[in-house]
This record gives sequence, C-alpha cells and structure tokens, in this order.
Amino acid sequence: MIAIYPGSFDPITLGHLDVIQRGCKLFERVVVAVLRNPNKMPMFTVQERLDQIRISTQHLPNIELDSFDGLTVNYAQIRQAVVIIRGLRVLSDFEKELQMAHTNKTLSDKIETVFLATSTEYGFLSSSVVKEIARFGGSVDHLVPKHVAKDIYNKCYAKTHPESAPTSTNPALKMNCPNVELEA
Ligand code: ADP
Repeated sequence: MIAIYPGSFDPITLGHLDVIQRGCKLFERVVVAVLRNPNKMPMFTVQERLDQIRISTQHLPNIELDSFDGLTVNYAQIRQAVVIIRGLRVLSDFEKELQMAHTNKTLSDKIETVFLATSTEYGFLSSSVVKEIARFGGSVDHLVPKHVAKDIYNKCYAKTHPESAPTSTNPALKMNCPNVELEA
C-alpha cells in the first residue's frame, strides 16, 4: 500500500521526521511530497527542501521524494497512492485537517486520509515556530535535523557573521534572515 505525505516542509522538523518514520513502518512505500505553492514566500526553495528531506531520511528504505502542485488527491492518484498521511498536534489542526479530509473524500472516495498523532515531545513543533526562533537569533538545534539547523543559520546569519551559529551563550548579534512567511 502506497501512502503520500504532503506538506510544505519549510523546513522539515523533527516532528515531520517522526511522522515519516512511523508512516514507513505502516505502509509499503511512503512518498514525501513537497507542495509547490506560488502564493507562499518560503525560506527554502523546493529543491533545498527536497535535499534536506533526502539527507534526513537516508536511513529509510521505503521512502520516495517528490514535489507537486494542484490537488493532493489528483497527485495521490497519479502516484497510485491510496492513503494521504497527515499529522495532528492540537485541536486547531484537527478542525482544519478534518475539513480537508472530508473535502478530499468528495473528490475521490478511493483515497483515505490517515492521521498520525504527534509524539508528545513534538506537539508544539512546526516549521513556523522554527523560523520564528531562528529569525530572532535563537538556537533551533533541538528542533530540526543537524544539517537543517546549519542551512537555517547559513540563510539567516552567514552574510553578516559567517562564523556565528547562535547558541544560548552566543546569541546572533545581527541577523540577515529573509523576511519569510512564518506560517507553516
Ligand atoms: P502544511 O503547510 O500542509 O501544514 P507542513 O509541512 O507544515 O505542511 O505539515 C505537513 C503535515 O505534517 C501536516 O499534516 C502537519 O499537521 C504535520 N505536522 C507538522 N508538524 C508536526 C509535528 N510536530 N507532529 C506531527 N505532525 C506534524
């Protein structure tokens, strides 16, 4: 059974990675699909996000990476997937995700949405939280894979302070973080 896990992943967090790993145990193949959304101003390009996900998931044998635009159900059908994986953290996720699942059901009754509850330690975690912390000079080492944290520091600080990744004792003095949209 093939499942797709669609999202922005701007950038991938440890919460996303946890959902991917658990999805890989449940399904034969998981296609992690980065949504190409021209209406959002992302921190990372689609290619950068795919590279970040590729490095983060090297240990998983049954994963595929892709990007898509348009309706998720159409993409799922093209990929011959019968399941859309989504993660749930808080009640507000549930309202939004349930509406999306019901809408998708009206478009194709062959595709099921499967919700994975967040692991408790990642219940607060979103890409927007990560970007917000980075933007104000905080450390995101505990929230994203190591190489992603490095990418974020490079984006935010490299031009002004190439040597300085922020830590609790060495807050970034001056930031050059792109003014990205902070919604996940
Ligand atoms: P979108 O922009 O579609 O919300 P995201 O990349 O933010 O895309 O998220 C993709 C999916 O991953 C969503 O279903 C979201 O609820 C889920 N998700 C994000 N962060 C977490 C987390 N910390 N724990 C569980 N699921 C998560």
